[in-house]
Amino acid sequence: MPGAHDRPGRRGGNETRTDTHCPYCALQCGMTLTPAADVAPREFPTSRGGLCQKGWTSASLLDSPARLTTPLVRTGGELRPASWDGALDLIAARLTGLQAEHGRDAVAVFGGGGLTNEKAYLLGKFARVALGTSQIDYNGRFCMSSAAAAGLRAFGVDRGLPFPVTDLAGADVIVLVGSNPAETMPPFLQQLQGAAAAGGLVVVDPRRTPTAEQANVHLAPAPGTDLALALGVLHATVAEGLIDEAYVAERTAGFDETWRIAARYWPEHVERITGVSAADQRALARMLAGAGNAYVLTARGAEQHATGVDTVSAWIDVALAHGLPGRAGSGYGCLTGQGNGQGGREHGQKADQLPGYRKLADPAAREHVAGVWGVDPDSLPAPGRSAYELLDVLGRPEGPKAMLVFGSNVVVSAPRSQRVTDRLEALDFLVTADVVLSETAAMADVVLPVTQWAEEDGTMTNLEGRVLLRRKAIDPPEGVRSDLDVLAGLAERLGQPAGRFPVDAEEVFTELRAASAGGVADYSGVTYERLRAGEALHWPVPAAGHSGTPRLFLDGFAHPDGRARFVAVEHTGPAEPPDAEFPLQATTGRLLQHYQSGAQTRAVPELAEAVPEACIEVHPDTAARAGVAVGEVATVESRRGAVTAPVRCVPSMRPDVVFVPFHFPGGQRANLITNPVLDPTSRMPEFKVCAARLVPAGAAESAEQQGAGGAS
Ligand code: SF4
Repeated sequence: MPGAHDRPGRRGGNETRTDTHCPYCALQCGMTLTPAADVAPREFPTSRGGLCQKGWTSASLLDSPARLTTPLVRTGGELRPASWDGALDLIAARLTGLQAEHGRDAVAVFGGGGLTNEKAYLLGKFARVALGTSQIDYNGRFCMSSAAAAGLRAFGVDRGLPFPVTDLAGADVIVLVGSNPAETMPPFLQQLQGAAAAGGLVVVDPRRTPTAEQANVHLAPAPGTDLALALGVLHATVAEGLIDEAYVAERTAGFDETWRIAARYWPEHVERITGVSAADQRALARMLAGAGNAYVLTARGAEQHATGVDTVSAWIDVALAHGLPGRAGSGYGCLTGQGNGQGGREHGQKADQLPGYRKLADPAAREHVAGVWGVDPDSLPAPGRSAYELLDVLGRPEGPKAMLVFGSNVVVSAPRSQRVTDRLEALDFLVTADVVLSETAAMADVVLPVTQWAEEDGTMTNLEGRVLLRRKAIDPPEGVRSDLDVLAGLAERLGQPAGRFPVDAEEVFTELRAASAGGVADYSGVTYERLRAGEALHWPVPAAGHSGTPRLFLDGFAHPDGRARFVAVEHTGPAEPPDAEFPLQATTGRLLQHYQSGAQTRAVPELAEAVPEACIEVHPDTAARAGVAVGEVATVESRRGAVTAPVRCVPSMRPDVVFVPFHFPGGQRANLITNPVLDPTSRMPEFKVCAARLVPAGAAESAEQQGAGGAS
C-alpha cells in the first residue's frame, strides 16, 4: 500500500511506518512515524528530505506527561477530572441556558489555523447550525489575513503561493519581505539556494535575522516602513525605464492611479522614511528587471500592521511592474505560517465565510451550503466579529457570555494579552479543547482532551495550496477523543439530528467537497483515495478526473477581465510612532525552537531546554543607554503593559528597535505590549511595531507606579 512500508524502527523491531507530515508549520515537511513514535524525514517536494528541530522532536508530545487524557471540569475553583458524558452534558446545558437568556450570539467559537480542514469545516458548521451563532473567528486572523485580502484584490483569488514551492529553485532573484524561514521553516531554505548562488537572494527585514545573514542583500527598513520601501522600489523601476510595459498594458489595470502616488516616493525621499539608501532601492529595481526568473514573497513582517493589506499590495505592485505574477518561473506569493494556515482560511471558521472560500453574505453561497447541510438558508446567521473584536467584547453586555476554543491559545497569542485575559475572566463559561493545559485552557470551566496529528486522519492544505493527507499512525491515549467527536457529541446534545455531524474524517471531507464545489477553493475532485495514492492536488480541483491547479494565473487572473489590479496605496507609518516617552520601536517574532504560543513546543523537553524563556534583543548601545547589561533582566514597556526577560545584545540590531519573541507565557508574553490597532480591511492587529522603552527590571515597577505601564 503506498505510504506504508516496513523497516526497522529506531526503538527496535520491524514496525510499519506511516507516511505523514510534521504537525507544525505550513511547509508540512514529509516524515514517517512508527507506532513507537519514531520520527524520520522522508522525501517530499517542499522539504526535500529535511526536518527542523521542531519536526524531529514532534512525536515527544504524543506521550508527554503534559498530555491531557481526561476531561476536566472546574469545581470549587479547581479543574477536576470528569467523565466525557458529564462534561459534554454540562457544556450543552450551560450553552443552552445562556442562549435562552441572552440570544444565539451569547455563545462564541474560536478556532485555529492548525486545525485540519475537516475540523475547521465542521467547526464553522457547528457554530452556524448547532449553535446558530454569528460569533466565530479564528487565530489565522492574526497571521495571514492581510496577505489574503491583498491577494484577493490584486488577483481575484487568495492562495498563499499560486505555484509549487519547488518552482522557487529555478529563480535567480527572490525578494523575501518580512520573512525569516531560517528559523520558522529551515528546510525551505533549500528552495532559495539557486537565487543565493546567483547573488539574488534579498531579505527585507528590520532585524539581521539568520535568514538575512544568508542573503546576498539585506535591506533593513525601520519597522512599519516596508510599504514606503516598496513605493521607492516601484518609483525607481519606473524612473529608470525598467517597468515591463507590455505586461502592464496587457495583463494589469490600475497602474496610472498607483503611479500618481508612487511618483511622490523618489528613492531619496524614501531613504529618509525607511533608512534604506536610495542606491539600494535602485539596485533592487535593477536586480528584479535583470532577472530571468524572479519572485517577491511576503510574510508576517509585511502583514502584521495596521496597514498590512496596503503593505502587501505595495509589494504586489512591485511584482506587477516587473511582470512577475502569472508568468511561468516567476511570481508573487505569501508564505503561510500555521500548519493549515491555507486550508484553515477556506472552509468556514472565519467570521464572514462559508466553505470553499465563499462569502457568508452572498445569497447564492448561503443557498448552496445550506443545501449541503440540510438547513434553511435563512437560518444561517450573518457575518460576525473578527478575532480581536470578538475577544474584546467577551463578557461585556453586548458580547458573548460563553466561548468554545479549539486549537488556539489566545491568552498568549492575542494582542494586548492582559486585556484579552481580563475578557476571558469576564465570561460566564469558557470551554477549551486541547492537547495540553495551555494558558487559555487553565482558565477554562471545562477542558476537553483531544487527539493530535498522529492519532487521527485529516487533511491539511500547505503553503502552496496542495491538499495533504495526514494519516493516523498511532492510537490515541485512552480517554482522548477527536475534535470531530466532540463537535458531534455536543451537536446531538444541542438537538441536532444524529448523523448531521459526522465523526469520521473521510466522511466529513466528503461533505466538505460538496460544500466547496463551485467555490473559489473547490475541493470537490479531491478524495482520500487520490491522496492515499500520492497524487499532488493543488486546489481548485473541480472534478474527480481533474489533475489540480499547481500554477494559477498563467492564462489570466481571477478578475472578470482576466487582469491583475495595481492598488494605489500610501505610506502612513506605524499607528503608534515612537516619542519622547517611548522612544524605541518594539517588534515581535519567532524563534527556531518554538511554534506559535509555544503551548506545544514548551512541553517538548529538548526544545524547552534549548530555549526555556523569552529574551529581549537590543543593540549593545541601546542596552547601555538603558543601563542594562547582557544577561541582566530588563523590562520593555509600552502604553499597554510590560514584558520582563533577560537581555541579549545583538550588534546587528537597529539601535531604535527592540525585539521580543512571542512564544512565552506570564510576564514574558510579548503580547502584553503589542498594539491591537487593526487593519481596516483584514482586521489583523499591528503585532510588528509599537512604541516602547527599555528599562532595568527594577525601574519598571516605579514607571508602572507612575502610571505609564499596565493594561487598562
Ligand atoms: S516546523 Fe515546519 S519546517 Fe520544521 S519540520 Fe515542521 S513543517 Fe518542517
